[in-house]
Amino acid sequence: MKVETVARAQRQAYGRNFPPPFFCFPPSAGPEPIWDGTRMSEPVLRGQLREREPMGRHVSWRAGGVADRAYEPVDLADLRVFLANRAAGEAIYFVGLGSNLLVRDGGLHGTVVFTHWALRGIRIDPGQCEIAVEAGVACPRIARIAAVNGCTGAEFLAGIPGTLGGALALNAGCYGGETWDMVTRVQTIDRQGDLHERTPAEFEIGYRSVTFKADGGRRTAEGIHRSSLIPHPSEEWFIAATLRFLRGDSAAARRRIKELLACRIASQPLSQPNAGSVFRNPPGDHAARLIEACGLKGHVIGGAMISPKHANFIVNVGAARARDIEALIELAQRAVGEKFGIELECEVRIVGEA
Ligand SMILES: Cc1cc2nc3c(=O)[nH]c(=O)nc-3n(C[C@H](O)[C@H](O)[C@H](O)COP(=O)(O)OP(=O)(O)OC[C@H]3O[C@@H](n4cnc5c(N)ncnc54)[C@H](O)[C@@H]3O)c2cc1C
Repeated sequence: MKVETVARAQRQAYGRNFPPPFFCFPPSAGPEPIWDGTRMSEPVLRGQLREREPMGRHVSWRAGGVADRAYEPVDLADLRVFLANRAAGEAIYFVGLGSNLLVRDGGLHGTVVFTHWALRGIRIDPGQCEIAVEAGVACPRIARIAAVNGCTGAEFLAGIPGTLGGALALNAGCYGGETWDMVTRVQTIDRQGDLHERTPAEFEIGYRSVTFKADGGRRTAEGIHRSSLIPHPSEEWFIAATLRFLRGDSAAARRRIKELLACRIASQPLSQPNAGSVFRNPPGDHAARLIEACGLKGHVIGGAMISPKHANFIVNVGAARARDIEALIELAQRAVGEKFGIELECEVRIVGEA
């Protein structure tokens, strides 16, 4: 593709003056909608829109209900057109690899947007140890690319089986690292399809929690369920971020990745469908220790079980329904509350109708 065609496609995809020069993901093939500086010309959708999408296929628990609609955009320009043409009241949920998500059996009213096929650009500036990554890129890929290029600080991402978008939404972390530690700026998209460049200072960032300050925290405060954090359908989602690392030894970073993955294999039930840690660790303690102390390891409800290997994991042992998983969540919360007076908070996101 000619240079000017690439530049035009990028302008159409990202708008004037956006993204900054460092961002230049490869534009997609196929017909581009025309961006005249104010709005897209025609609602030409190039992605796949499906009705009644079984979400069990898209979440790592391999369980759960159906979403009214699901859209798989082909690229950012297509996503912009799609969002710009949504009805005002339509609930929209961005979904990455579904590794921290449960859709209740009664289904999800609204439209799910999958990011991992469309937002796959990644560009490294080895001189600055900076990586610009689109939100659909899987975290382990970021860890690998950083390590290979002699950038250190991303090794912990190797064992997090979600997308960068999910990691940004949840401030995913482990082994002493957290996603937002390395973020210098993010790009978001709103429901009009408009793009925004934001800095970490615009977010309230905590342990597995990220809130956009401009709306006073309403996005995560609304709709808190006793067993989970059900975010109010957000009006702005992550599409990319720039991550900065330290210059270091590539071989050492790759060794570190191997060590961290070995720790996970030894301690987590990775051969069974799960969603990682179900509960946040309460201050100064571990949810797994508390659940195990209540004698709940190996406890089964329907097709779901509290893992005998790691008590903060619930595994699908065969045709689990979302309600089996939720019943175990509530059981663990009740038991830990009664025995220790500690309220376990869900780390996994539970959405949809019971
Ligand atoms: C085996 C296993 C191990 C795990 N280990 C860890 C760990 O060590 N540390 C850790 O923190 N987590 C861990 N997790 C949980 C999970 O992988 C992370 O939370 C991950 O960041 C979720 O990313 P995802 O793409 O799968 O998000 P999803 O599950 O698809 O979505 C999770 C939430 O993020 C929102 N979201 C997704 N994409 C976007 C976006 N682009 N913009 C705005 N919101 C978005 C969704 O709406 C949803 O509310 C583990 C999970 C598994 C299965």
